[in-house]
Amino acid sequence: MATRAASVRDAAIKTGETCATKLQDGLTTTTQTFAALMTQAEEINRDRAELGEEATLKLLTKCQANVRALCMVEAQQQAHKSSLAGLRTELPEEVVPAELQRVFAESLKKHTEAHASKADVDQRREMRRLRALMTGEAAEEGMDEGGDEGDDDVMMTQQTITNIKCPILQMPMRPSGDMRPMTPKTGHASSCVYSFQGISSLLKRGASCDCPMNGCNAKVLKGGLVEAKEMLKKIKEMEDDGE
Ligand SMILES: [Zn+2]
Repeated sequence: MATRAASVRDAAIKTGETCATKLQDGLTTTTQTFAALMTQAEEINRDRAELGEEATLKLLTKCQANVRALCMVEAQQQAHKSSLAGLRTELPEEVVPAELQRVFAESLKKHTEAHASKADVDQRREMRRLRALMTGEAAEEGMDEGGDEGDDDVMMTQQTITNIKCPILQMPMRPSGDMRPMTPKTGHASSCVYSFQGISSLLKRGASCDCPMNGCNAKVLKGGLVEAKEMLKKIKEMEDDGE
């Protein structure tokens, strides 16, 4: 029995490694698609006068939606890759085929959460460039790596939405309900803020979890969360502005 389990494990690892190689091809394709989309956007911008402002903005908005969707694809591919690459260390010594799927599904979920919380789509170079093209601030040639001025209306809106986004779920937080902002009572920076739903999903399996904020190494305790007052104020202000 032990031998059989070991061979199941070996076969799974081998298959996983083959898949990981294929996924790498997929990621390369994704990178190429990003580049193709950006070339398209630059061409649209070049033909701006001919297309007219309205059509240009429409087309660029479409590019933006495509880049956003592609970011999701990329995050999923990366999560898949991490899960597959981790099989060797994450698979138990003796694993039966029936368990394999569950182990992998759990691993994938964990990696997807990790990648999703790291991906700040709006701060991507591609998205920044598209915003610059849309606002007509892209008079200069080439990719603009410089700091955003943030004084434009479109930019402000984008920025504000980014600011009230739950870093775990990548969705705007709300003043109440499951998407309300929470923060650890002690031991974290005041910028460690996430939605109730998001942090709850990370705390499902234990009494504590690593703080999902980049650069924060503190633990988040299940009972140690309080309402994030500052963020709450910001969200309310923003929702008031929008109405
Ligand atoms: Zn933290």
